[in-house]
Amino acid sequence: MARVYNFSAGPSMLAEDVLKTAAAEMLEYGESGQSVMEMSHRSKEYQAIFDETEANLREIMNIPDDYAVLFLQGGASTQFAMAPMNLMTKNGKADFIITGQWANKAFKEAARYGNAREVASSKDKTFSYIPKTTAADFDKDADYVHICMNNTIYGTKYNKLPDTNGVPLVADISSCILSEPIDVTKFGMLYAGAQKNVAPAGVTIVIIRKDLIGNAMDITPTMLNYATHYENGSMFNTPPCYSIYIAGLTLKWIKKMGGLEKMKELNEKKAKILYDFLDSSKLFKGTVVPEDRSLMNVPFVTGDEELDAKFVSESKKAGFLNLKGHRSVGGMRASIYNAMPIEGVEKLVAFMKKFEEENL
Ligand SMILES: *Cc1c(COP(=O)(O)O)cnc(C)c1O
Repeated sequence: MARVYNFSAGPSMLAEDVLKTAAAEMLEYGESGQSVMEMSHRSKEYQAIFDETEANLREIMNIPDDYAVLFLQGGASTQFAMAPMNLMTKNGKADFIITGQWANKAFKEAARYGNAREVASSKDKTFSYIPKTTAADFDKDADYVHICMNNTIYGTKYNKLPDTNGVPLVADISSCILSEPIDVTKFGMLYAGAQKNVAPAGVTIVIIRKDLIGNAMDITPTMLNYATHYENGSMFNTPPCYSIYIAGLTLKWIKKMGGLEKMKELNEKKAKILYDFLDSSKLFKGTVVPEDRSLMNVPFVTGDEELDAKFVSESKKAGFLNLKGHRSVGGMRASIYNAMPIEGVEKLVAFMKKFEEENL
């Protein structure tokens, strides 16, 4: 059977190169006589995989030395608690911009540990835009400001970062990590679950300014303290070894492709094909205001729920999988992460054109 074009929001497509290398190395990794899945995380072979993965992430994302890189478990959702437990500790308060379900979950979880404040929200229009803020909107005594950089469910993205009045910015970049260059120095902390754009589920990448580590609340469980993982090179306990290995293969693939500038160029090209079609279509339309559109997740509707369902069903038969929108918003969504080839998007648009002709 041929591989399908998988538009899933996550877990999602991995580069074919990555899967082929993983398959070739499945039984024996290098000269080790064993699969990476079977290796001791304390072995020389595994440490080399781990170190190379971190070094490549630092190189590709241009992460300065005063930032730590941690490979953790528990998904991005665990960071919704870890961030406040570790960072909301100077003045006990943090500011949140609510741009969707993930941002709201981060806000709700933080509110359990301190004074979390909603600064702005785009809930009034089903999160179809990024609310505008100015420096004056933020509390200069807040310990951090939290944003969700790319809103996976709604298809919005910060194309310009908020001015936070000097307060450290913490961002959930689960669905846009490695999709384009990002200036790490603008953030106190970045975090991402790997299953959207990096690796299979299991590893969560945290990039944190070192001076923000070591201030956790007394109640913080050892495993939820950034200091625990920083002081032990992310090996306080067994890390998600295999996911880290695949992340390493993805990073090598990105390097070979030409780095994040190149990924951005490719992602912009793919997104443009889809958005240009949506803007000209008489049947389909995008749901996000043009200036805040995501490069990674593209939601669209026909305006008729039955027709939406018919489209999802027929597209599946044609080999385009997982185009159904998130259960909370309906319609359709095409997630076009790094690993989605340009032909996948071109063929999807050709299919949409045909569907339009037949159903208008
Ligand atoms: C998928 C996603 C999450 C949830 O990630 P888990 O790893 O499942 O906890 C959080 N934030 C964003 C932006 C996401 O896309």
